[in-house]
Amino acid sequence: MNCCCICGKELTGTGWLCHECAALWGLEKRPFKQWPAWVRACKLDEERERINERAREAHEVYFSDYLDAERGAYGEYNEDWIP
Ligand SMILES: [Zn+2]
Repeated sequence: MNCCCICGKELTGTGWLCHECAALWGLEKRPFKQWPAWVRACKLDEERERINERAREAHEVYFSDYLDAERGAYGEYNEDWIP
């Protein structure tokens, strides 16, 4: 879930700010480069968080692919430790 990088409120879109924060800090329709440094820092933190989240999701997909591959090869899952 994407969150407002200032207040942490959940967002439905892919933006970085909720409407309240954008209005409160006068950031509506202003490009990222014109944001105050502290807001840009918050945005970068949120961006890192989203990248980490995607990486976790990608890993989960990879892991289930692995299980499917194993089932294809052996006909069933087994308890082997996957390094
Ligand atoms: Zn907000």
